Amino acid sequence: METQNKISRRSALTGMGAVFATAAFNPIMANAFTLNEIPMMNIPEDPTTKYPRPPFKEQSQPWPGLVSKMDPRPDHGEKSYKGSNRLKGRKALITGGDSGMGRAAAIAYAREGADVAINYYPTEEEDAKEVIELIKAEGRKAIAIPGDLRNEQFCKALVEQAVTALGGLDIVVNNAARQQTHASILDISTEEFDWTMKTNIYAPFWIIKAALPHLKPGASIIGTSSVQAYAPTEDLYDYAQTKAATTNYIKSLAKQLAPKGIRVNGVAPGPIWTALQVSGGATMEKLKEFGSQTPMGRPGQPAELASIYVQLAANDASYATGQIYGSSGGEGNP
Ligand code: NAD
Ligand code: MG
Repeated sequence: METQNKISRRSALTGMGAVFATAAFNPIMANAFTLNEIPMMNIPEDPTTKYPRPPFKEQSQPWPGLVSKMDPRPDHGEKSYKGSNRLKGRKALITGGDSGMGRAAAIAYAREGADVAINYYPTEEEDAKEVIELIKAEGRKAIAIPGDLRNEQFCKALVEQAVTALGGLDIVVNNAARQQTHASILDISTEEFDWTMKTNIYAPFWIIKAALPHLKPGASIIGTSSVQAYAPTEDLYDYAQTKAATTNYIKSLAKQLAPKGIRVNGVAPGPIWTALQVSGGATMEKLKEFGSQTPMGRPGQPAELASIYVQLAANDASYATGQIYGSSGGEGNP
């Protein structure tokens, strides 16, 4: 990280040097920037060196894992995400909002001006607290609603609590999921299979049904799918099929709800450095080389997907529905 900071600082300075040099020779350019604006320049960042690359240290946590115990700690945009009022005044519910993609979306939504309710599993309180503080720091409403999504009554109560606390609802992000690696189908018990199906397929079904009466034209439903929907690996027999189901419901529901002005879209991440992977989601062998199989040669960080969740909910994406936006370092589909 230290080297990386030095590299980005050096390239930032080089970039600024180039601006000064151009300005010195070009009076039109000289008038184009004030000194205050120059440090705000959007210097291109090399995606191959921007974030940690494998090999990673061996690590394992009991499910569902905590961000604070990961090494390196994932980047959810805590320090980097800058908003520009793209979701000003909107009201969002995000499942799995304590960590990973859900946390990145929660931070970005708050910085774009939205009030945010997050759901998480009760043992993730520590991670959730950090997210609640980050949302509050933006002056937005931050609502914490812990509970087990495998329970239909809880899913209904979750939506009602979010609607009451936020004073409405117009963005629903079904992001929570269960992923456990199993070398063989014979290792997956009926209980395990059911756990994965309940979390990944039933919970979004229950949540969407409960949310729909509250959603008005302009609302957005977003699901987190995966490259696993298109190119399943041999060790994720149960999980991968839930992601195919997610991609599928996004497309059918988009058709059903388009006439009502409600858009339904999905995000398909590739290998992303999150708690899910270090708490049973990947074998130790895979974890140590996590992301190395992608053309980018490294895993993605949750922060790298935040803008997609924003884009899909924003008014200016009004023609996008039934779409899956990918971010996977060059592998897989879509
Ligand atoms: P994560 O562990 O940070 O987030 C998953 C969250 O799901 C947990 O934080 C937890 O709050 C929630 N959850 C799981 N079971 C629950 C239950 N029974 N009740 C309440 N909450 C529950 O990991 P992540 O990788 O950010 O996962 C977010 C989404 O991204 C998931 O849908 C996952 O399938 C998807 N995804 C992840 C990757 C990856 O490589 N990390 C790749 C593709 C897709
Ligand atoms: Mg978590």
